Formats: sequence, structure tokens, C-alpha cells
Amino acid sequence: MADNNNSNWDKENKDKKPHNEPPKWGPFNKNNLNPGLLYALGLIVVMFGVNYFFNTNSSDSISFSDFKSKIESGEIHYVQMGQDSYIGLTAAPDNFGSSQGISSYRTTPVNDPGFIPLLDKMGVEYAAQAQGNNFIIDLLITWGIPILLFFLIWRFAFKRMGNMGQNVLSFGQNKNQVVAEGSIETTFRDVAGADEAKEELIEVVDFLKNPAKYKAIGGKIPKGVLLVGPPGGGKTLMARAVAGEAGVTFFRISGADFVEMFVGVGASRVRDLFKQAREKAPCIIFIDELDAIGKSRITGISGNDEREQTLNQLLVEMDGFDAVQGVIIIAATNRPEILDPALLRPGRFDRQVVMDRPDLKGREDILKIHAKNVKLDTSVDLNKVAKGSPGFVGADLANLVNEAALLAVRRGQKKVGQQDFDEAIEKIVAGLERKTRVMNPKEREIVAFHETGHALVAAFTQDADPVHKISIIPRGIGALGYTLQLPTEDRFLMSQKELLGRIDILLGGRAAEEIIFNEISTGAANDLVKATSIARKMITDYGMSQRFRNVSLESDRSSPFLGERSQLGMGQQRQYSENTQMYVDEEITRIIETEYANVLKMLKEKQALLDDIAKKLLEVETLDSEAFKKMVETKAAV
Ligand code: ADP
Ligand code: MG
Ligand code: ZN
Repeated sequence: MADNNNSNWDKENKDKKPHNEPPKWGPFNKNNLNPGLLYALGLIVVMFGVNYFFNTNSSDSISFSDFKSKIESGEIHYVQMGQDSYIGLTAAPDNFGSSQGISSYRTTPVNDPGFIPLLDKMGVEYAAQAQGNNFIIDLLITWGIPILLFFLIWRFAFKRMGNMGQNVLSFGQNKNQVVAEGSIETTFRDVAGADEAKEELIEVVDFLKNPAKYKAIGGKIPKGVLLVGPPGGGKTLMARAVAGEAGVTFFRISGADFVEMFVGVGASRVRDLFKQAREKAPCIIFIDELDAIGKSRITGISGNDEREQTLNQLLVEMDGFDAVQGVIIIAATNRPEILDPALLRPGRFDRQVVMDRPDLKGREDILKIHAKNVKLDTSVDLNKVAKGSPGFVGADLANLVNEAALLAVRRGQKKVGQQDFDEAIEKIVAGLERKTRVMNPKEREIVAFHETGHALVAAFTQDADPVHKISIIPRGIGALGYTLQLPTEDRFLMSQKELLGRIDILLGGRAAEEIIFNEISTGAANDLVKATSIARKMITDYGMSQRFRNVSLESDRSSPFLGERSQLGMGQQRQYSENTQMYVDEEITRIIETEYANVLKMLKEKQALLDDIAKKLLEVETLDSEAFKKMVETKAAV
């Protein structure tokens, strides 16, 4: 918590009690039984009571023969003939109860054919009583049981629908829907191996702690932060840690929660969420699995109205407030590529924080965190465990520690040993391999040399952007490793030489593979696409070829506002001849061939360096710019 108190948001927040009271009213609430049901039960009990009273209290039970003799003696003047009882009255029923001294007798009928003639003979009035004394029971059967059934069905249905029921009944005023979580204990210390992400989020924490400071200066803080990373990579954990560090209220909702059966419920839920958040500022709204609502509206095959409405409402809400109000929205997704571009526009989730698979050191740190919960024996070397678990994400590592502990218990040990970890890794890797997330050793080696090839060519190409990071940790779908170059300045113009340099770097990966393994792999496919595209543009767009020097062969320039210029598609006409097309194709091939030869030559000269760096990379999995530069310089100096 912030120790300066210049904002009363902080104060308010301190005495805020955890906010998870149960809903005030729900059809059936575990804590207090629904009053409706109680009334129904009460009514039934009362009815039975009344029935019992009427049946027993007012009549004397006598035998049938006594009953008959009372008729013969003329004592009974009136008989009510029910199904299972006859009631004889000493006066007509109109007077019954109104005057004293009239008695009634009850008997259980006997099948006596002479009974009716006897009544006729004695002139006794008699009437059959269809409902008779069972009137109240009949009422129960016709009304009570259906009502009871209705209640039971209602209860069952709402239980099944969970929280939904409240929603339908309150017509979207789901006051109880999104509940702020109590004070969050998670801090950055609980998240390991994500230093870059932490660095980016520190600013957000600081803002939430001292919004007044930012308000005074008028600086703009990002409203929305998008956490991107593989499942189990700690995105949810990180969002909590931000809330915990800042000591603010934390609203968590999953994208899937928004998308409901009924159109409009999701949108109203969003509205309600933001309303609550504004009241509780400063706070964090965390939208987990944003892709569930944020799927691109264009690519969707069938328009999902509900999702679209929800997404629109989210966009409206995000535009409608200022971060200065102290509300920060953090969202998480493992599929950023399918998000609607509208979500990524400035003023929305314009800041993206990547939570990648951890490297060796990161994995060791994560293991340390989770190993705190178990007893380790002295044989355990967590560094070795981390080495044996490339490609594991945080959740896998947490699982690994747990599996190892279980194995230790099964073996009857008091502490977890290295052997348990080794076995647990095998067990988990077998599971992961099915999901093809872990590379086999041969593949790792190829990737290491491939990436080193890119990096080395970049290091020795004049004017190329410096290498920022090399990694052999698989990232996303398809990319098995990556070499990240960051430009030192914004570039608007590129010379022919620089373009060729780019092609060289792109070809460096495949060239390294060829030199080391004397074999090429599919891993370079994406590089080749990019290299070819640059070469093509040099010829058709930039007029850099021999034959068409300073001539644009470009076919179609669509509006620059629509982003990427579309490739030559159906219906579009090439603006040059077949002949020229052939020339273009040949020229592209020539450029690539020449550059590839250059790159091969360069890397062969530096093969020792290539070997060294690739081996280092295999060991530590990522090299940052510092480490890489140091290796290149020391080797070059020798
Ligand atoms: P995501 O939301 O990215 O799918 P989670 O945050 O739900 O992943 O992570 C699942 C669990 O894995 C966490 O609760 C935590 O125990 C563990 N975990 C994941 N990443 C880390 C990390 N960087 N440091 C420590 N534990 C982690
Ligand atoms: Mg998650
Ligand atoms: Zn490559």
C-alpha cells in the first residue's frame, strides 16, 4: 500500500472489507431457504391440521349397527354419505353448528343393501358427498402438489443455470455478478522468469498507487494492458500480482463469462462491471481469455450477435473513461492474432506485454518458488531440473514439483529427491510431446544453429539493426526460435545495400544449417518468404533491377489507409507483360542466389564462432544483446 496518503482512494481502500457477500435475493439461495417454498410447506401442514380437526372433533365414531339403530330410533334425521364415512346428524345440516344440542355420529359404511330402503322408510334425508371430508385433501391434490412441483422444478432449473437465474430475473441488473476479490496477496515475488513483463508493469503499479502524481502532471497512462503468452505461462498470476503490488481492488472476469445464452446479458454485464469499477477506483479489471469475446468480427464465420454486442459494449466502455479515474484494464490472451483489431487501437489495449516461455534461468527461479512448498533432500539440483525441462511453462513446472512430491510419497520417502524430479520430467514430457510442444534434442540443435546464423550475419552486416535477443524457446505456432533485432532509430528510407543486408540476415539461418548439418530443413520457410518478398519489391516497386532501373512495375496501389497493399489477386491485372514477369522471376532468383552465396562464405569463415554461440544457446536457451556482443567481440579479438 502506498504510504503517502494524498489520495483518499487509498484510505477508502484500506477499510474495504472483502466483497463477497452472497446475493441478496436469488430464487434459491443456499444460505436462506426461499420464503416461497416455506410458505408452501407451511400451508400444507396447516391444511392437514384443519382437515384432521374437522374430521375428528365434531363427530362421535360409532359402529354401523349403532348407526343403524339410531336411524331406526329416529334420532338421526340427516345422513351425509361419503366415500369412506357416513355422518349422521340429529338435525338438518343448515342448522348444524348454529344451535347447541345437535350431535353428529360418524361411522364406517358397510355394504348393506337394506340401508337405503331403511333411510327411505324412516324419512331420513340423505345425500351423497362427493368431496365430503376429503375436500381439503382434494384441494391439496389439485393445487398443492402442482405448486410444490413447480417450485421444485424452478429450483432445479435455477441451480443448473447457476448465476444466470438472477440475471434473467433482474433483467440484466446483475449487481451481484462480478464480485471484487478481497485483498490480493500475490506479488511480483510470486512470479518468476518474467522480468521484462514485470518491468513494463511496474509503471502501472506505480500509477495505481499514486494516481494523484500522474493526475498532477497530466501524463497519459495506458488504459489497457494486454498480456500475451502461452497457456499456463502465468498471465493470470501476473495480473493478480499487479493488483497485489498496488494494493487495489481486483475485478476478475473471464471472457467466456460474458458470452451468455441470452442476447444482451453480456453487454449489460460489461456495463455493470465498469460501473462498479468506477465506484471502487483505483482498481484493476482483469478480463481473462479476452479472445472469447474479442475474436475478430470480420473473420467470424457466423455472426454471433451476443458476442458482438458484448465486444461493442466493451469498446464503448473503454473509450468512455479516462485512466486518470484510476481504473486499469488488464486482459490476457494466448491468441492475440485472432483479436479484433479494434481492441488493439490506441486508447484500448494499446500496450502489449509478452509473457513468453521461460528460459533456463527463468525455469530455475519458478522451480524455486514452487519447491518452497515441498521438502527437498540434498540431492536435488534445481538447475539440473530446469535444464531437463526445456519448453515448460510456469504451470508445467508447478505441476512438475507436485508430481515429484507425489512420486516421493509413493516411494515412502520423507523428502523429494533428484530421482523423483527426473522421473516426473519424463512423465510430463511424455504428455507434452503428444501436444508437440517440446522439441527433441536434434531439432533443438538445428534451431540453435539456425538462429545463430541469423544473428551472426546481422552482427557482421554493415548498418544492420543490432541483435537484441536470440532464443531457441518455441514461440507461438510455427516459430521454433527467434532472433530479435531492434532498430536503433525509426527508418523511413532504406538503401539498396540495406535491403540486400536484410535478405542476407534472413538467409543466414538456412546457410548455417547447410554448413553444419550439410542438410537443409523446413525451418527456414518463413525466412524465405520474407527474403523473396524484399527481392521482389526491389524489382517491381523500387526500380532497383538492371533492366527496369527506376521503373515501377507495381500493379496496384490501394489506399495507404487500408494498410498492407494487397497482393496480386483475382481480377487484378498485372501491368506488365509475360516477358517482364519472367524477367522478374529470374531476377528474384538471381538476387537470392548471389546473396546466399555471400552468406555461406561469410559464415564458413566464422564457423568457430557459429559453433560456440550455438552451443552456448543450446545451454542457456536465450542470449541477450550483451551476452551475444561479448561472445562475438572476444572471439573476433582472438
Ligand atoms: P495463464 O493465465 O497464463 O494460463 P496462470 O497464471 O493461470 O497461467 O498460471 C498457472 C499456474 O502456474 C500459476 O498459478 C502458478 O502456480 C504457475 N505459474 C505460471 N507462471 C509462473 C511464473 N512465472 N512464476 C511462478 N509460477 C508460475
Ligand atoms: Mg489464465
Ligand atoms: Zn529463421
